[in-house]
Amino acid sequence: MRPEILFSLFAPTTALAGVGKHAARLLEKVAGPTVADLLWHLPTGIVDRRHMPKIADAPPGAIVTLALTVDAHLPARTARRPYKVRCSDDTGFLHLVFFNARADYLTKLLPVGARRIVSGRVELFNDERQMTHPDHVVPLEEVDKVTGIEPIYPLTAGLTPRMLGKAMQAALARAPELAEWHDPALVARERWATWHASLTTVHAPAGEADLAPATTARRRLAYDELLANQLALGLVRLNQRRLPGRSLVGDGRLTRAAIAALPFALTASQHTASAEIAEDLRSDRRMLRLLQGDVGSGKTVVALLAMLTAVEAGAQAALMAPTEILARQHFATIEPLAQAAGVRLASLTGRDKGKARTRLIEQLATGAIDLVVGTHALFQEDVAFHDLAVAVIDEQHRFGVHQRLTLATKGKGVDVLVMTATPIPRTLMMTAYGDLDVSRLTEKPAGRKPVDTRTLPAERLDEVVAGVARQLKTGAKVFWVCPLVEESDEVDLAAAVDRQKMLEQALAQPVGLVHGRMKAADKDRAMADFAEGELGVLVATTVIEVGVDVPAATVMVIEHAERFGLAQLHQLRGRIGRGDRPSTCLLLYQGPLGETARARLEILRQTEDGFRIAEEDLKLRGAGEMLGTRQSGMPTFKLADLAAHEDLLDLARADARHTLDQDPTLTGPRGDALRVLLYLFERDAAVRYLRSG
Ligand code: ADP
Ligand code: MG
Repeated sequence: MRPEILFSLFAPTTALAGVGKHAARLLEKVAGPTVADLLWHLPTGIVDRRHMPKIADAPPGAIVTLALTVDAHLPARTARRPYKVRCSDDTGFLHLVFFNARADYLTKLLPVGARRIVSGRVELFNDERQMTHPDHVVPLEEVDKVTGIEPIYPLTAGLTPRMLGKAMQAALARAPELAEWHDPALVARERWATWHASLTTVHAPAGEADLAPATTARRRLAYDELLANQLALGLVRLNQRRLPGRSLVGDGRLTRAAIAALPFALTASQHTASAEIAEDLRSDRRMLRLLQGDVGSGKTVVALLAMLTAVEAGAQAALMAPTEILARQHFATIEPLAQAAGVRLASLTGRDKGKARTRLIEQLATGAIDLVVGTHALFQEDVAFHDLAVAVIDEQHRFGVHQRLTLATKGKGVDVLVMTATPIPRTLMMTAYGDLDVSRLTEKPAGRKPVDTRTLPAERLDEVVAGVARQLKTGAKVFWVCPLVEESDEVDLAAAVDRQKMLEQALAQPVGLVHGRMKAADKDRAMADFAEGELGVLVATTVIEVGVDVPAATVMVIEHAERFGLAQLHQLRGRIGRGDRPSTCLLLYQGPLGETARARLEILRQTEDGFRIAEEDLKLRGAGEMLGTRQSGMPTFKLADLAAHEDLLDLARADARHTLDQDPTLTGPRGDALRVLLYLFERDAAVRYLRSG
């Protein structure tokens, strides 16, 4: 349970003085629903209101603070005209300008004859100075309240700087003092102030320099967040390790048979990864390993060898894929090899129903099936194993942290191998998968040809279609990708259907279509027609991203390439260049392109190295944007900036490891404070591990 001291931070923003339902909705848009979310909303600029010139000296365009006498009110003559208030000092006059103003409110705020301090941006209008919607209007005695430096926050339509500023002040006033969770030596070395003082500092910048990620206060808060992340991962890891594992020793009979049946030799990294996995399996601790390898690097075979070791040891193994198509693909890769090794293989997806499914489930439960490949249908409650020992989870980049462990509960001491094709930069890797050991497939299987990648404006569609027609005559197969950002997006879906029709006409041949909203059976049929049948062109939304091996596909056209993430484009492109013929990828973009968009597409043109692409993407877009982080199950950070705070991440990782080595139950001197830290960053699930252990 969340400690009481944090209650005020996790209250909705409506708990703050002056924040009603309306303001709360706007605050939720920019920051989030809670007081804590608001506090994590950091300023991105400053306004300096210290300059107090006379009217005649106020530079147009600048923010100034003026001491004025109110001379006269000039109400709007028509609804569209502004309400003006004429004010002056001993050097001249200026109009305060209000649109959609309420006269009674303005008369009270600026009574004729009164003196007021007014702060805002001065403009020239018909050679006269004016100020539209001043930011502050206060009596003379309150001059000190407005002549400071104010933080500027990212806003949203309807949310004024004043509303946000007031809410932020109220939030800061509610923030409790929290006991220090960091090692005192570290705090002294980095000269960090307390959490509370650092928070106050970041919200009160005294100049531009205070907005940089490198300030002491920002670094401290970033470190808080990173340590919470690394501790949480460390606890998951500890918990996994604590559960009894089992030693799986195979006699090599099945793995040897499978390797002998491969039409190719394993690459050096496949060998290394297999050896690392075999070592994990042999040990009596539980395996929790990530197998990272670019699209087409040959992860499936490595996974199969691990699974066969389980069977050699007399147990069962399961492989779970994120989509039907991919499950089918894995099954197809594995089937001949399983046959060669003489093991009993089955597949289980959401499409298996009725009697067949019942029989399958029975066979899994009795151990009549050794290996099963499937989708999340494997999670279903009535699916039980006779003796599941190895679970392989191909998450591409779809599953979240918690799901990867669920399959492991279907057996005792299950060894878990997670596969990902997402080339993740080192920093993201540590924050997302810090709980796992890592094996990497760094080379592509021999014989892969580089893909010739080009970028073209959408206006050159006709040329592209003509080029596709030429390629088809030589027997090439063509992927034509249309973006479908949301499965529910009717407009995008219609565009994909239109494109299919247009291509059928232009190319005078049938063109296939797959998209996420088709029935699985229809999808599979279209895919099969393309992969094995007559179909030369397949229009697809991004469903082909996760998997699908069609060696004859040598051309890929991607429309609206500017709408895709770099990693996504890279994954898509990985679908071609799999056979022995040279391949071409055409990235069509809708111009004009901004500088970043141009730079991003350029990187794809230059390299096929997924790790380099990922690093560049991280630099160009930041971690939050990358890979559409939210769906990808990657953690997002509110205070830490993985590019700027990389050193802190390394530190946090070492710190978390050391801390948990010394005090695995967090009951030592810093224990209580560290628990508060975990709750502060909503790592509640990790704290729960402490209790269950
Ligand atoms: P990934 O899952 O990493 O994207 P796959 O395991 O699907 O890659 O392998 C892609 C293709 O490469 C498959 O057709 C597979 O049979 C083939 N392959 C795997 N390992 C090798 C190898 N060492 N040499 C040649 N081809 C290989
Ligand atoms: Mg694969």
